[in-house]
Amino acid sequence: AAARAGELRLVARSGRLLQRSLDIADILPMFAVELSDELDLDGIAISRVSSGGELVTAFAFGALLHLPRDPASIPAPRADVDPGEELTLTLLRGDRVIGALTVRAGKSGLGRGRTEALQAVSELLAAALANARIYQEEQAVVGRLRELDRMKTTFLGSVSHELRTTVTAIKGFAQLLTRPGLDIAEADRTDYLQRIDRNANSLAVLVDDLLDFASLERQSLAVTPQAVNLSHLLPDVVKQTSSIMANHSVSTAIEPGIVAVADTSAVERIVFNLLTNAAKYTPPGTEVVVALSRRGPKAVLTVTDRGPGIPASEQTQIFDRFYRVDNVATRAARGVGIGLALVRELVGLLNGTVVCEDTPGGGTRFVVELTLVDTDPTAPPSRTQLQPT
Ligand code: ADP
Repeated sequence: AAARAGELRLVARSGRLLQRSLDIADILPMFAVELSDELDLDGIAISRVSSGGELVTAFAFGALLHLPRDPASIPAPRADVDPGEELTLTLLRGDRVIGALTVRAGKSGLGRGRTEALQAVSELLAAALANARIYQEEQAVVGRLRELDRMKTTFLGSVSHELRTTVTAIKGFAQLLTRPGLDIAEADRTDYLQRIDRNANSLAVLVDDLLDFASLERQSLAVTPQAVNLSHLLPDVVKQTSSIMANHSVSTAIEPGIVAVADTSAVERIVFNLLTNAAKYTPPGTEVVVALSRRGPKAVLTVTDRGPGIPASEQTQIFDRFYRVDNVATRAARGVGIGLALVRELVGLLNGTVVCEDTPGGGTRFVVELTLVDTDPTAPPSRTQLQPT
């Protein structure tokens, strides 16, 4: 009766202990010591199932144990454990294994009563581990939402700033030109009109970005993937950006006959955004190269510049919505941080990939990969349905 009472006390105490904190790393050591003292154990280990489905040790104490790696390999528990023998109990949530509790019996071994108490304790431990995991996941979501909220606030600030500067410039020059009795040189009049035009163009780009961004938020950006002759399309797109790229020397290296799964307006948008960035973030007079080639089953489109480059640690983040690198070039340029998010989304809709990398001589290279279309007339019908545009 005394042994039974001791076992019940252990279960009750373990339950209280495991509820003390949602940070499981805080309580596992106390729990292990408590269990090991009460049951006279030589060693104890608690493991959790990793995302890869393997058991990994979360905490271990005392003698080194033979821990199973595969949750499915844990044998059914025994009622009696001899001195020095090990026992592993699976930790279950519903019928899913979420971890394991392994103990090595001390000098007196573990009789039926003690293994039953261990079983009850392992159920409490399973509940504590599951709650801790839910808590951790919630904390990660809260962190992500906070970051998104912060970025949205920055985004609103940038958009308001963009709108104010461009509208003020347009209004200012328009008012100047319509002042009664205005007497200015023809060259100045042309300059003011050109400034109005440039600012109106910036406004139009911003409005397009915002509209696309709204579609991106609603996940309703539409593309129609079909066979597109990129070798024909790219020179046209580059030509369309000539006014934006007026201060740069743009060259192309385009292999002929490259047909890929794409969408004409999506490719125009992708290249337009990459070239606008090259124009914004690299010094005037520097070189920008647009290249297109084949690599295995892929069409590889690159835009390479000789600007300041993007730190390696930020080469992935720049594709996140609202993300802008915190440097002089970015602070000096207009932008709200959604151009590359749009690029990634459009490329993704075409089942392609886009990455940013350093170029050997300094500068940035954006690499877009799209799937080549097999133009072989004997190719299977699913491929030949794609008609070159
Ligand atoms: P925006 O240009 O509106 O800021 P983007 O999403 O197009 O937004 O770009 C995100 C950030 O990536 C930019 O703010 C800039 O810091 C950086 N960036 C993009 N392209 C280049 C480039 N070619 N060279 C250097 N930095 C770049």
